[in-house]
Formats: sequence, structure tokens, C-alpha cells
Amino acid sequence: MRTREIVCDGFSVRIQHNPGRIKSTMADVEEKAINGRPCFLCLNNLPEGQKGIFYRDLYLILCNPAPVFPSHLTISRLNHHPQAIAEHIDTLLRIAGDFGDRWTILYNGPKCGASAPDHLHFQAIPSGQMPIEKECPEEKNLTRITRVDGVYILRARDLGREIIIIEGDDPACISSVFKGILAAMKKDLHTDEEPMVSIAVFHKEERWRLLVFPRAKHRPDAFFKEGNDRVVVSPAVIEMGGVIVTPMEKDFEGLDASCVEGIYREVSLKANIVDSILASIPTL
Ligand SMILES: [Zn+2]
Repeated sequence: MRTREIVCDGFSVRIQHNPGRIKSTMADVEEKAINGRPCFLCLNNLPEGQKGIFYRDLYLILCNPAPVFPSHLTISRLNHHPQAIAEHIDTLLRIAGDFGDRWTILYNGPKCGASAPDHLHFQAIPSGQMPIEKECPEEKNLTRITRVDGVYILRARDLGREIIIIEGDDPACISSVFKGILAAMKKDLHTDEEPMVSIAVFHKEERWRLLVFPRAKHRPDAFFKEGNDRVVVSPAVIEMGGVIVTPMEKDFEGLDASCVEGIYREVSLKANIVDSILASIPTL
């Protein structure tokens, strides 16, 4: 792997040339393709030699066979069950609590980055790997929106993409605030499906911090172009966190600040929609 930094307007990203990621970056996540392939997270289809740690009776902790970071783990449900966050937010918070402050726990929505949208899974990566972890806590980059039931809701400012931050020390309250935001998104976006979100969770000194990246689309238009115009970048939570994986050397060499800013603008939910979602959260 090779990496380089790109300084954008108000934030920076790390580009990572990682040819081993080509399969997940290019993964066909359309329903037809998913239904027609054997699920690679189901026990019978795990790579030969894959070992796992049994976790809380329902999950296996696995090594990601194509890691972006050293110690890149997949936490996969034992049985085949769709990727869905509202019913599993408590599990996500519990994993973050169990793993502790040396880890960041990640979730990709089924329509915005999960390469197995049909099989519930999370990821764990060592903390401190994504540029957003340094940028987001800085006061100048945050706007405080409200406090609901002891849970703070904040919003990132001028970081090139929308981020809703949820912070608190009571997992039940965090979970209910999160579900409230998800419901507001559904209403605003007129959808019955899970609104597109990528999530990173941190747990430190008995407090949870969620970075929720509301998404407008999964892949930028340039992903679907042909020949030289094609940019093989498929933004999932790690990309939203500031590490942009480019399996192709051409993209690693060619991406610049304005391309990165453009990709974020395209795949992140527009500011005025986030305004309206946040405005509908009841304050307590
Ligand atoms: Zn499966």
C-alpha cells in the first residue's frame, strides 16, 4: 500500500492505493447480483483458513481478508440477516463499549457502502486512523444543535461533508435519539427504507460518540464512467472518515483536492435537507 495526503478546503484526507480492495470497491450491490451470489459472510462460505472469535452468542469477530488498516476486523452475525441499523443500534453501541477506546466501530448502510448488504456486519479498526477523528472534536468545526434526554446533538461545520454527531453516556437514550433522527430522515426523504447513513462510533471514558454521515448516494457519477474518465472510488464509512481507498494506481496518482471535494459534495446529503431534519428533532 502507498498513501499520500491531500489538503482540501477546511479538512484533509489520506488517499490509499490498495489494489487488494478492488473486489469490495467494485462489488455489485444491486439486489439481483446479491440474490444470485453465495453470501461471503455466511459460515459455509468464509475463506479457507478464516478463524473467528465467538462474540456474545450471535456474532463472530473475523479478520477482514482485504484490510484497509492493520487489525481491520469484521464483526459478522452468525446467521444470514439483512444489514439494518434501527434494530441493531444497541448492538453497535454495545460493541463499541466492549471493544473500548482503542477501537473505532463502523457501520455501512445496505445502500451506501456495505459490500454484503444482505448479511448484518460491523467493522472494527484501531482508533486514530481516520483524519476525521482529529478534525471532528475541534470546537471550530462543530455547531451545537440541541440536547435531548441528556444526549447532545452537534453538526460538523465546513468539513466538506455533512456529519451529525450524537454524544452521551446512556446507551438507551443515545439509541432513542439516533432512532428519532433516522425517523426524521425517513420522513424528510419520503422513504420507507433505511435512509442512507454511514456511521463511526467511539467509546471513551463511559461516553459514546457517534458520527453519522447522512448520504445522498453511494457512488459518485465518475465511478460509472468508462475508460480514462472512470474514478474507482466507492465511498463507504472509511472514505467518509477521510481515508479514500483507490484500488487503481491511476486514481491514486490523479485525485486532487477539487476531485475529493466534489465526491464528498455528491455523496453527502445536502445541507438544506440536513437543516430540515435537525429542525424537526424535539428538544427536551
Ligand atoms: Zn450471509
